[in-house]
Amino acid sequence: MIYDLHSHTTASDGSLTPVELVTRADVRQVGVLAVTDHDTVDGLTAAKREIDLKKLKLKLVNGVEISTKWHGFEIHIVGLCIDPEDSVLLSCLDTQLKHREIRAQSMSDKLEKKGIENVYQEAREMAVGKCVSRTHFAKVLLQRGVVSNFDAAFKKYLGKGKSAYVSPNWMDIETAVKIIKRAGGIAVIAHPIRYDMSNKWLAKLVAEFAEHGGDALEVGLTQQSPNQRLHISTLANKHNLHSSQGSDFHAPARWTDLGKSLYLTEQCKPVWQHPKWRYA
Ligand code: AMP
Ligand code: MN
Ligand code: MN
Ligand code: MN
Repeated sequence: MIYDLHSHTTASDGSLTPVELVTRADVRQVGVLAVTDHDTVDGLTAAKREIDLKKLKLKLVNGVEISTKWHGFEIHIVGLCIDPEDSVLLSCLDTQLKHREIRAQSMSDKLEKKGIENVYQEAREMAVGKCVSRTHFAKVLLQRGVVSNFDAAFKKYLGKGKSAYVSPNWMDIETAVKIIKRAGGIAVIAHPIRYDMSNKWLAKLVAEFAEHGGDALEVGLTQQSPNQRLHISTLANKHNLHSSQGSDFHAPARWTDLGKSLYLTEQCKPVWQHPKWRYA
């Protein structure tokens, strides 16, 4: 059974609609898919409806990926098996989306000073849902030929410390864990190896997350070295956390896809064995 517990739709910065996403997952023989859009649960209803309508074998897990701020790092906390109608969760996500709008306008102002005009308006139009992200900004810059590839938009303008970077006003980790658990969910640190932090900082992050009642680490990613997998699974075990896995799928691409190269090692406690595990 293939579990893919991290994926995006057009409700945030993914390029497939929820219907297209579940269809692709099913074709690729994924058995369990978590839809985890950035700061929104808006894609979940359409995903579930399509699975039921087409009687797909695929099982859906209701999820979300919440942006948080921790010592200047932007840490993503995935919530799995959440109740997407929980009122506190919804109101906190609403606040995050408002911060996204404010940040987007500030990023656009910074770009304007460099002679790159109206990026906010275009990014806002490109975003199908309520979540406007730096992915949309990068796509606008690429379309206009301001940069020659997607990554360059982050390297030159949008990445931390770059000329159009705006420090975001995200909630803290403790709050994210609390609202996920309140909504009946399981809190997971997304892609722990992608934060560009030292092992010392990473150890501190995981320790604090566990103290706040966090449940799991994303141990299995599509692209990582055996050493990275071992390092994260060892950290998870040290704090008695479960292990998750996910492709973080955004769009069809050569090097990544739904369900691709996802596995846990024997020492891991799979997150789907967590007592709170449930399907949508
Ligand atoms: P945001 O949530 O608005 O801060 O945008 C972050 C999103 O941009 C991530 O979820 C990725 O999908 C995408 N992204 C792509 N390349 C990078 C990068 N180098 N740094 C940060 N985000 C990136
Ligand atoms: Mn993203
Ligand atoms: Mn992420
Ligand atoms: Mn993601």
